Amino acid sequence: MHLLSIDSLSDAQIALILDEAARWFAWNRQPRRNAKRLDGLTVINAFFENSTRTLLSFEIAAKRLGAQVVVMQVEQSSIKKGETLEDTGRTLNAMRPDALVIRHGTSGAPETLASIMDCPVINAGDGIGEHPTQALLDAATIRQRFGRIAGLKIAICGDLRHSRVARSNIKLLHRLGAELRLAGPPSLVPNELPHAANIDEAVSGADVIMMLRVQRERMSEDLGDAPGEFLARYGLTAERLARAAPHAAIMHPGPINRGVEIEGALADDPQRSLITLQVEMGVAVRMACLDLLTAERVTA
Ligand code: ASP
Repeated sequence: MHLLSIDSLSDAQIALILDEAARWFAWNRQPRRNAKRLDGLTVINAFFENSTRTLLSFEIAAKRLGAQVVVMQVEQSSIKKGETLEDTGRTLNAMRPDALVIRHGTSGAPETLASIMDCPVINAGDGIGEHPTQALLDAATIRQRFGRIAGLKIAICGDLRHSRVARSNIKLLHRLGAELRLAGPPSLVPNELPHAANIDEAVSGADVIMMLRVQRERMSEDLGDAPGEFLARYGLTAERLARAAPHAAIMHPGPINRGVEIEGALADDPQRSLITLQVEMGVAVRMACLDLLTAERVTA
């Protein structure tokens, strides 16, 4: 079994991951934690794009479960000598890992590797494709805060076009029964999402506001916005937040562009912001995913 996209998970698997993540979340808060569930297994992390949260949380998750973790140093690898992704996959496979976690700038790269590898492949973000474990950790965070997802009004706002986080979250949160509102600048809303509203409408009465990073590194032309313009027109400001439900929570997958898609003080507001809770839940969700995906090997 691989974890390539939200569609690759059944409803039962999603429910299991969310339940198990809640359990690992509590377990992770204990002073000493070492489990043996992945004892004797090797996990390779191959990150072809930069990462702080996802890379570290997969490594911590695998280590807390007792696995041996190897981080492939892409900058020093033969990829720099022109080796193809397929050949890199065949090489990694010959070393008999028990799971491969991959992040890549090309959408579909994890699928390519999944067709080569004999072990589970986990998509840790592929281009503008998907980021399924981020969506799972976002859903687990919402459930931790609100006790449910069904019926919540969730606004996902910002650079929808380039966001693999949004792509996975739209699928997952919709499946879990949330009422989604999407908003972004017209040039950053993909054609397949014509129903995107303006941010003021999206935020009105919302229980959760998920802001997305403006991904300038994926744009061929600059947005041409003046300093402060994006925030004023499309970002989350205190004034806009006042339109949301009184108990509304703020989320962001990170890294944050302070003062662009979100006012810095809102990201830091301990009453409203779930951003560090998302990071903490990221370790728990990745433990649940690694455990589920490697279960066949452990019991073999
Ligand atoms: N960290 C997330 C990702 O890798 C979101 C972002 O980069 O804006 O997709």
